[in-house]
Amino acid sequence: MPADHDVLIIGAGLAGQRAALAAADAGASVAIMSKVHPVRSHSVAAAGGINAAVSPDDDWRSHAYDTVKGSDFLGDQDAIEIMCREAPAEVMHLEHIGVTFHRNESGAIDLRAFGGASMKRTAYVADITGQALLASRRRSNVTVEHRARSVGGSNYTIGRILSLVMRILFSYSPAPLRLASMAGLFTSFVAFALGTGVILHKLISGTNVPGWASMMVAMAFTNGMTVLIVSMIGEYTVRVLQQVSSAPTYAISRTLGRT
Ligand SMILES: Cc1cc2nc3c(=O)[nH]c(=O)nc-3n(C[C@H](O)[C@H](O)[C@H](O)COP(=O)(O)OP(=O)(O)OC[C@H]3O[C@@H](n4cnc5c(N)ncnc54)[C@H](O)[C@@H]3O)c2cc1C
Repeated sequence: MPADHDVLIIGAGLAGQRAALAAADAGASVAIMSKVHPVRSHSVAAAGGINAAVSPDDDWRSHAYDTVKGSDFLGDQDAIEIMCREAPAEVMHLEHIGVTFHRNESGAIDLRAFGGASMKRTAYVADITGQALLASRRRSNVTVEHRARSVGGSNYTIGRILSLVMRILFSYSPAPLRLASMAGLFTSFVAFALGTGVILHKLISGTNVPGWASMMVAMAFTNGMTVLIVSMIGEYTVRVLQQVSSAPTYAISRTLGRT
């Protein structure tokens, strides 16, 4: 329970977790309370990286100037100074606790250009920097106590969960259509083989096959073919859509410098 701890931190994003780490390193017993699960905090969406003047060619003053300028001179300059001064050491600290920052060819932390920065200054972990920071080496399992809601209800109703499942199934690939094609093909093939058997049976042994069985075989064949054809049309449509969406979203209307 929070009452048993020296420090209570509200919020389990990167800011809260970093504060918890600092308090724990200073010997305090820490509790963190969070509205959403820690890894669902917005921090997990921070993909691009962290700005810090870690390059020997860089200077925290340049980082601070870019930051003040980027805020249209409205940012708190004292806070910006502290952030930019401490950022390089903080990035190194993060690396020492297990954040696998991207490296350049000489083995140093690689830096990329970020909007508003006058030089390459962004340390990153592929395009999952926030997630990597939330999941550094010191991560461990803690018991999570889920309390019952006292007010309101979850937005995840059965309808929304079903619609999410349908979107996951159908939005990303034509695989369900391919599955339907295969099912249609398989059904038609089996029905065709059975139908051939029925005809051969009649021709060779002269035995009459009951009408309902022949009817089922004919229906299985036509239904299988229908499913196959409809899903093939679906696959064509998906391929056209995929080609259209991967094409550049502009058209060349005029070419200069050539006749
Ligand atoms: C799409 C996206 C991309 C970004 N890219 C970058 C980037 O490349 N580089 C960069 O430096 N920054 C980036 N940012 C900004 C960066 O993610 C945020 O500034 C940073 O993560 C904020 O951290 P935080 O811990 O303060 O907030 P959050 O990560 O939002 O954490 C807030 C925490 O508070 C908890 N909380 C909220 N209300 C309550 C309550 N009433 N009771 C209890 N708990 C509560 C939440 O559950 C959550 O755990 C990006 C942001 C977004 C959204």
